Amino acid sequence: MDYDRFFKDAVAKIRDEGRYRVFADLARECGRFPHAQYFDAHGQPRSVTIWCSNDYLGMGQHPVVVKAATEALEGYGTGAGGTRNISGTTHLHVLLERELAALHQRESALVMTSGYVANEAAISTIAKLLPGCLILSDEKNHASMIHGIRDSRCEKVIFRHNDLDHLEQLLKSADSGRPKLIAFESVYSMDGDFGLIEEICDLADAHQALTYLDEVHAVGMYGPNGAGVAEQRGVMHRPTVIQGTLAKAYGCMGGYIAAKADIVDAIRSIASSFIFTTSLAPAVVGGALASVTHLRDEGQMVRERHQERASTLKHRLKAAGLPVMDNPSHIVPVWVGDPVLCKQASDRLLERHGIYIQPINYPTVPKGTERLRITPTPLHHDGLMDQLMQSLHEVWQELGLETRKAAA
Ligand SMILES: *Cc1c(COP(=O)(O)O)cnc(C)c1O
Repeated sequence: MDYDRFFKDAVAKIRDEGRYRVFADLARECGRFPHAQYFDAHGQPRSVTIWCSNDYLGMGQHPVVVKAATEALEGYGTGAGGTRNISGTTHLHVLLERELAALHQRESALVMTSGYVANEAAISTIAKLLPGCLILSDEKNHASMIHGIRDSRCEKVIFRHNDLDHLEQLLKSADSGRPKLIAFESVYSMDGDFGLIEEICDLADAHQALTYLDEVHAVGMYGPNGAGVAEQRGVMHRPTVIQGTLAKAYGCMGGYIAAKADIVDAIRSIASSFIFTTSLAPAVVGGALASVTHLRDEGQMVRERHQERASTLKHRLKAAGLPVMDNPSHIVPVWVGDPVLCKQASDRLLERHGIYIQPINYPTVPKGTERLRITPTPLHHDGLMDQLMQSLHEVWQELGLETRKAAA
């Protein structure tokens, strides 16, 4: 076989479909969030504004977080030195896990190297342990949950997104004595809609199923302590497992689960992707701990401002006739509906307007639903928003993009 040829063709096919990925070469500038230097194709730096970061609140550059990370770095050095088992458990890991367990009012929490790993490790372990487990998975679940489900090698059924009737029907048609796990999210990050936490937990109770809730796009941002949408809605006690990330609103890196001690202990003892990898660096853990406590104690104003920014931008887009995909969260998706145009729109915004919004194409979203996904933070002030509106308006005109949204 001509292997070289094979991979060249594989990449060419991706290019032809307009979904070849080019990563913008950026250097964030600590203290100037949301501004960054962008290095163009010739390596020339230029100042741009980032409008698509998952550092939703700018905590990655917050002085309190930077200071804690710096102190941990200087106090403990760079790496953790091993897996959690091989001397990679630092006192900061212990404190962070205590803090996260308390935040979600669970007996225990376990920090992993990413939210992706947390989903993969936790779902696969829980489902594998339960004899004959049936996994019920929302069709819009994140790739990391799907990976965990696959890894478990258990039977899975997919329910239509947020469709309670469909979920109930699937639960009813399963053997009543069989262990079941329902996996879903609280904020679906590409459309920005909320999961039906209370209703799904009701169905789970009625059919003796466990629930697994991914709060990755909500922790830090929703609820009076930043514990997520479940906290905001007063139902935080209900899901069996709550999973979150330290990489998005908390501005650092790492993922975690919080649950009853025995469930956490089982994952800690069995999950390969937790056990056999070096634990998070102390600086990351120190920064995350400061971020979690800061957003718990002093985050309310920033959370309110965050929601206000998102809703203001949605209103402005609507008023300008731009096809915003409406939703109740902090995520502002703008419809394009074509992969090539979506990439072109993003390129133009970056090259000509100094605005960075990455294109969201397949496989992140279904083909034909390509979009720009804007995530305004509390630091995107009115002046920046004026500039964004003007730039979007021009790009939409130049490329002749749709101004009203087609079917979502
Ligand atoms: C980003 C994301 C993850 C993974 O979290 P990381 O910490 O970035 O690995 C998990 N679930 C959802 C829904 C996500 O969007």
